[in-house]
Amino acid sequence: MANIIDGKAISAAIRAEIKQETEIFAKENGFRPGLAVIIVGEDPASQVYVRNKRRACEEVGFYSEAYELPAETTQEELNTLVDKLNANEKIHGILCQLPLPKHLDENEVILRIDPKKDVDAFHPVNVGRIMIGDYSFLPCTPAGVMALLERSGIEISGKECVVVGRSNIVGKPQAMLLLHANGTVTICHSRTKNLAEVCRRADILVAAIGKADFFTGDMVKEGAVVIDVGMNRRADGKLTGDVDFESVAPKASYITPVPGGVGPMTITMLMKNTLTAAKLSVK
Ligand code: NDP
Repeated sequence: MANIIDGKAISAAIRAEIKQETEIFAKENGFRPGLAVIIVGEDPASQVYVRNKRRACEEVGFYSEAYELPAETTQEELNTLVDKLNANEKIHGILCQLPLPKHLDENEVILRIDPKKDVDAFHPVNVGRIMIGDYSFLPCTPAGVMALLERSGIEISGKECVVVGRSNIVGKPQAMLLLHANGTVTICHSRTKNLAEVCRRADILVAAIGKADFFTGDMVKEGAVVIDVGMNRRADGKLTGDVDFESVAPKASYITPVPGGVGPMTITMLMKNTLTAAKLSVK
């Protein structure tokens, strides 16, 4: 049976470190790292994320501002708010909760956020910097996966790493981070032929497709490390990953559960990026 990678415990340990660093930073500089979170409309899942982000800010001792805008907010109003936050010295990180209501252009907002305050690492400048391996901010979910691997003592160098999913926020940056860590990386997607066969080659398998319990034991090599990024709701309302835990865990050497694996790491990495942004602002 696989070792369970405890994302809650690892996340708590990293948050404690961030809190300590924040106290030192505040003493040295006379101000705290500040995060602004913008949410437009009333999507219940987004509201939960935003609440959790505020709570995380309190936990690590950050200053935070939340902007809850009505669903009918115009692009111009949103742009004006981003411009104000770009110029606000108390704010080091700006996060606009996605998805936005359909009449708003997500790309326009991403481009408008100052890359130095882009703690989601979605701005093309930061995406490009990740590509060349010269980055300050790491995209939160893939960075969370890397921290889980590192803190579980899992070697990446020279390993066959298979990432399933090629989105801009998870799959692609995940593959790049594993490559920077000297993994031999394969990226799979919905058009991949013989997916099960490719997955069986993996020493480290990262599942990020958004399909409940899709990856079964027969798709995994004996002793593989299996990281489940997926977050899916079952018909009964329960949260489940992309990996069928029951059949995969007996074959894997390490596995992340859902919930309690990658999930808790994402907000923790956002806190880390905000602290980094604050540090860069005084350099
Ligand atoms: P997207 O929907 O943007 O991307 C899904 C990717 O999976 C696409 O590249 C798609 O391929 C690929 N895919 C879909 N079906 C298959 C299939 N049957 N076989 C192979 N590949 C397939 O999702 P995200 O990347 O945003 O998210 C992925 C999952 O991770 C979701 O469950 C999401 O909820 C979760 N997530 C979790 C986070 C966390 O904090 N734990 C944070 C962010 C996301 P193609 O490109 O060809 O369409």
